[in-house]
Amino acid sequence: RSYLDRIKNEDAAYNSFITVTEEQALSQARAADERRAAGQAGAFTGLPIAHKDIFCTKGVRTSCASRMLDNFIAPYDATLIGRFNDAGAVMLGKTNMDEFAMGSSNESSFYGPSRNPWDTERVPGGSSGGSAAAVAARLAPAATGTDTGGSIRQPAALCGITGLKPTYGRVSRYGMIAYASSLDQAGPMARTAEDCALMLGVMAGFDKMDSTSVDREVPDYRLTLNDSLEGLKIGLPKEYFAADLNPAIAEQVHNAVREFEKLGATVKEVSLPNSALSVPAYYIIAPAEASSNLSRFDGVRYGYRCEDARDLEDLYKRSRGEGFGDEVKRRIMVGTYALSAGYYDAYYRKAQQVRRLIQQDFAAVLADVDVIMGPTTPQPAFRLGEKTSDPVQMYMEDIYTLALNLAGLPGMSIPCGQSNGLPVGLQIIGDYFSEAKLLNVAHRFQ
Ligand code: GLN
Repeated sequence: RSYLDRIKNEDAAYNSFITVTEEQALSQARAADERRAAGQAGAFTGLPIAHKDIFCTKGVRTSCASRMLDNFIAPYDATLIGRFNDAGAVMLGKTNMDEFAMGSSNESSFYGPSRNPWDTERVPGGSSGGSAAAVAARLAPAATGTDTGGSIRQPAALCGITGLKPTYGRVSRYGMIAYASSLDQAGPMARTAEDCALMLGVMAGFDKMDSTSVDREVPDYRLTLNDSLEGLKIGLPKEYFAADLNPAIAEQVHNAVREFEKLGATVKEVSLPNSALSVPAYYIIAPAEASSNLSRFDGVRYGYRCEDARDLEDLYKRSRGEGFGDEVKRRIMVGTYALSAGYYDAYYRKAQQVRRLIQQDFAAVLADVDVIMGPTTPQPAFRLGEKTSDPVQMYMEDIYTLALNLAGLPGMSIPCGQSNGLPVGLQIIGDYFSEAKLLNVAHRFQ
């Protein structure tokens, strides 16, 4: 009730929720009380949580912040939602996001942008901006997010919270509305690494409903949070500290790295030579996959349907034309072009080759260091409207986050100071399935 009241009284300023599920929350809370009274409570029993509106929630609108799904009541729960429900979590509602998770500022949402609680004239980041704003404004102690190219880490950085993008395949994608399937991964967003460790323990694990989910044991992430960092080898990629980086952010990141040295870590400069290619490669691959995934929204099966269609062609055209927003249309056009006969080799195949080079860069560096550190974003939270007229400017927001997704690696963003009263995020990148190590490193700093 306390969180529901806070949402009711304060969310007008942040617009972080699309749907508040008050009745369900209270009934789940009562069930949690009963479980506790019966001595059957687990670590998550009764904990409130907000879910990004990209996860299917049975009987609850699941909009993906699109007009296309404004009327869509999901008939089933995503695996991740079911896991939180089974663990006794209390769902407060569904959070705002960029339409179909395409964006870095939350401004492409059909429901209007979410706002950054540190300064409501500024964006909370995206696409999981509503989740980040809700946690930062203390409207929820924890929230789920998804990260295709930075959508957990970038809003976590801009809102001063902790977010973790797990290894590709660690968390089931079943029931998570697909953007770019080879890049999408769900993860926790909360105040601290400790809270993220608890959440990831609920979320992670094999799911036969997702053919890309990996059958590998899930450790208790809480057990290793306090491990010593003595001898930890940190690599700082020189490409992440180049001219694009705001000097105030560089300073905060370097200060954080010095703290790790005090905790016993050693630091060296490393190189990820193909970093500059990650934005162009991603913005071919992600739209290509999106154009294919979004073809299911045809006005026939479910979702938005235009009025008075003349014939089938008109039904498709107008349902999609009216149902999708501008950024989504831009991605569909770019993706369709890149996949079309004659252009496939020049764009899509080339981008996949670059993707392999980027993955090899990381493999070489991670053979030598335990974790890579750098900034999460090139600058702190920007003003609403500042980048909306220039998509490429918006895409550059992801320069430090995208490469991980192309390689399938895990990464975190944790708060590491402020610049002009706005939070700064430190990014920590590790090898495949090193989530326990990342959480340990983050926790020792916090
Ligand atoms: N900003 C990137 C994009 O628009 C990443 C979004 C995401 O991770 N979902 O594609």
